[in-house]
Amino acid sequence: MTKPKKYSFNRRTLSYELEKVSPTGHLGKALAVVALSFAILFSYMWATSALHKDLPKTFLLRMANVRWQSRIEVMARKMDAASASLDGIARRDDEIYRSIFGLSEITPAARNAGISGARRYEELDEKNPSLAAAARRLDLLLKKAVVQSRSFDESEALARRAGEIAVSIPAICPLSTEPGTFRFSSPFGMRNDPVYKGRESHAGVDLASYKGNPIYATGDGVVESAEYNKGYGNSVIVDHGFGYKTRYAHMNAISVKVGQKVSRGTHLGYVGTTGKSTGNHLHYEVIFRGRPVNPAGFMDMEMPYEDWKTIVEEVPVQKGLRKQYK
Ligand SMILES: [Zn+2]
Repeated sequence: MTKPKKYSFNRRTLSYELEKVSPTGHLGKALAVVALSFAILFSYMWATSALHKDLPKTFLLRMANVRWQSRIEVMARKMDAASASLDGIARRDDEIYRSIFGLSEITPAARNAGISGARRYEELDEKNPSLAAAARRLDLLLKKAVVQSRSFDESEALARRAGEIAVSIPAICPLSTEPGTFRFSSPFGMRNDPVYKGRESHAGVDLASYKGNPIYATGDGVVESAEYNKGYGNSVIVDHGFGYKTRYAHMNAISVKVGQKVSRGTHLGYVGTTGKSTGNHLHYEVIFRGRPVNPAGFMDMEMPYEDWKTIVEEVPVQKGLRKQYK
């Protein structure tokens, strides 16, 4: 095949003439093609090196991945914040709501149960560690939320029994508040032991009074024990439920039996000096979840004697004894 020939119209001669291409024209075209090729090659090389030696498509995918990665991190931070506020709610729940109703605290282990040791993210761990970590955080968050909502259900159920709690938790003075019938002789906390000397922790308060003065239950409950022992002498423990118990010690005589239901104001016995005691007094303890607490916080001493009288049974001074206190 021969190369196609080019003709051009000559206006002067008014005829078509065969076009003659100069050798320099051929060379120019060839050079232009080579230059363009180099330009494309260099720009491609520049692009691949400037864009981290990636092909354009890889580069775009990498950029998309970086965006996803940062979104996952933002989500993880939000989950951490939600988790922290949930921890705050859990703390308040344990310290306030659960303690008001005498529920035991939910241990951190129980709150986070079933979280550690989960193997379901092992595959994700290799492919996308930050996504695996975010998934774990989300799981922990959901678990905490479920535990918390169950805890609130429990508190709510108890809140419905608030009236019952109000009559059960110790709230009045166990002895008549008639002026001149007793005095606080020893406070709660550290003190010098009156019998064996030395420092000791006093688990209750002492109310020095006269022998035979009636003692009353300070809240509704059940008599857990009514017995004599060396230390407390004749003593009664009332279980009020909701984590509360009260102890009445050194009684001259006990008037209730184990298992007996008592109300606030039920007569329990009489003031005496049995057991480890130096004189007629009532040793009174309030125990919350097994630990003695200051009874002062559970004794309304502002209550007028007239009001106190309406709460308790009317019981005279123990038979054969006279009402006298010095
Ligand atoms: Zn005492």
